[in-house]
This record gives sequence, structure tokens and C-alpha cells, in this order.
Amino acid sequence: MSATITSQPYGRIYNFSAGPCTLPVEVLEEARDSIMNWNGFGASVLEMSHRSKAFEGILDSAIADLRELMGIPANYKVLFLQGGASLQFSMIPMNLRPEGASVDHIVTGAWGKKSVEASNLYGGKTNVIYDAKESNYNHAPALTSLAISPDNSYVYFTSNETIQGVNYLADPANDGNVWICDMSSDILSREVNVSRYGMIFAGVQKNMGPAGAVLAIIREDLLERVPSGLPPMLDYKVMVENGSMYNTPPCWSIYMCGLVYKWMMRNGGVAAMEAKNEAKAKLIYDAIDNSSFYKGHAVAQNRSRMNITFTLPTEDLGKKFVAEAKEAGMIELNGHRSVGGCRASVYNAFPVEGCQVLADFMRSFEAANG
Ligand SMILES: *Cc1c(COP(=O)(O)O)cnc(C)c1O
Repeated sequence: MSATITSQPYGRIYNFSAGPCTLPVEVLEEARDSIMNWNGFGASVLEMSHRSKAFEGILDSAIADLRELMGIPANYKVLFLQGGASLQFSMIPMNLRPEGASVDHIVTGAWGKKSVEASNLYGGKTNVIYDAKESNYNHAPALTSLAISPDNSYVYFTSNETIQGVNYLADPANDGNVWICDMSSDILSREVNVSRYGMIFAGVQKNMGPAGAVLAIIREDLLERVPSGLPPMLDYKVMVENGSMYNTPPCWSIYMCGLVYKWMMRNGGVAAMEAKNEAKAKLIYDAIDNSSFYKGHAVAQNRSRMNITFTLPTEDLGKKFVAEAKEAGMIELNGHRSVGGCRASVYNAFPVEGCQVLADFMRSFEAANG
């Protein structure tokens, strides 16, 4: 194979992992430099009391920076929780679906499906108003095209289905519905109008930092729905009242999210990330579109800029592709078994050069095997 392993600092390779995933080198260096003595504190964030002024400052500035990056209105609460995005699949119906009420879910992939499974465990009705299963989850219907139940308590969807590589690139309309969105794999990758949502949540390990924390942005008035008697760790109101610190929060994960937010701010914010992500994804989609060898999984208008899914003519060629890519310095290109083929995850921190190297590799692999 002629594709070259370009020299990256510290002998790092192009890591296309879907999550946890590539973090900015600058951020990793800052974290490294702070691991013995954070900012003259005399100990690292790993060792610091979460009740110290120092950690309070770290948490407060992470939240303030995120508010600025996303333009989060004042009537939204920002929380760092635990249990991953997956626990939100349960906490949302427990907290925000009044007893006996019904909610709508739009299922465009594997994560949306899991949210329904969890929602079905609690009192109330979960209407699946759209399920893209028939097409093996290769598209996302326009939100405005759906028959939303008039009596729903909220409408739930996944903005980017990480496994299938299907992306919504538009916010819901200002239509009076309480939209709840799992943005785990595309948060901060494109500009969103937060005021269109009742709640946004995201596991931080895709576009924000290392695994451990999950971000929740909740419109204040929805907290009135939280029933009494929930286990405190599963109660949004308790978490809000305690500023995400009812118990020990995932301090290191939050600290590194804060470093990533600062990195984004130094680099033009969300708008600049979005432009870069579009260009990065285009490099790889062009290699797919200009070939009859590779086939994209998602339909063109719903293609993800974060997770690019494609298949090769046979499963064996797919395996060969992944193996040879690895030799050329690119890892984690295997697709999820439900889609097959390959998946290249190229979140904010993934370098544009890596996308170019992959696109070049795809062309030479096709020439040799097509
Ligand atoms: C990764 C992912 C999840 C699950 O996140 P965990 O933090 O592992 O629970 C949920 N939704 C989406 C869209 C994801 O990409």
C-alpha cells in the first residue's frame, strides 16, 4: 500500500474510533502538564476535593464556556451527570413524562431504538411515530413531515445515529412541542438553536472529552414535571439544586471537557468546527461518490459528518480494507455488525489530514482491488 503514515506527534496514528475517540493534541498536552500540579495548586485535578474552590472554578468555567459556545439561554440548566447517555434513556421518562401521559419517539437508528426500550419500562405510553427499520436505518425523515401526537408530553429523537451514520442537520421547528434530543455524537459539531429544544443531552466521550460525564441541558420549566420520590441520583431537580454535585462528580472528565471548550473557543467556536467538519466529511464522501466500489450507507441528504458509514463489494474486501488501513496507520475503521463494512468517525478533534489520508487510501485500495 502506498498510503503514507504521516508523522504525527508522539507517534500517534489516525484513530477513527466512534467513542471514546481522538482528543485534540493540545488538550492532551495541557492535561499531561497538569497531572502533577494543576495551576500551582500543588496537586492534580485527579486528586483535588470536588468541594474545593479550585474544582468549583473548573466546573463553573466549563459550564460558562459551554453556554457561550452553544448560546444556551439563561432559562436552561446545564448539568454534568453520570451513567452515560444510556442512563438518560431512563431518566427522561422518569422525570419528564407525567404519570400516565404519552410521549413520541422517532427512531432513526440503534440509539433511538434503545431509548424506546427504556421508555417502555416506565408508566405511560411511548408512541414510536417513525421507525426507519425497514430501510436498515439509512435515513432520517424531516421532523416537520411527521404525524406528531397532539397530546404528547415530549417528542424524542437522536440528532446523529452513531452506528448507522444518519444525521439531522436542522433543528426542530418552533412548534410548541417539547423536543428532546440525544446529541451524543454531534453536539458542538454544528450550530444549533438551543431554544428549539426542551432538553439536549450528550455523553461527553464523542465530541467533548474522555468518558465519565454526560451533559444535560434542560429548560427550567420542565423541572416542574419531576415527580417526588425518585431516587436522588436519578432526579434532575436534586442534581440542579446541588449544581451537579449531589455526590462526587466525574471530576477529570469535566475538567477535560472544559479544556476542550477552551480549545474550541481559541479555534473559532462552533461555526468554525462546522465548516471544518463539512470539509473533512466531504473528502471521504467524495471518495465514495466517485467510485462504484464503495457504497455509502446513509442517503445523501442525511449523511453524518461525524460517522461516515460505507460498505465494500464483499465482506472479505471490507476485512482486507480494515487490515491494510491499520498497517497504513489508521485504526478503528470497522463498521458496526448491524451495518457491516466500514465506519470512519471524524469528530471535531479528528485532523483534516487524517481524512485526506483515508480518502487517498480508499482510492489506492480500490485501484488494487476493484
Ligand atoms: C454513544 C452513544 C450513546 C451511549 O452513550 P453512553 O455514554 O455509552 O451511554 C447514546 N446515544 C448516542 C447517539 C451515542 O452515540
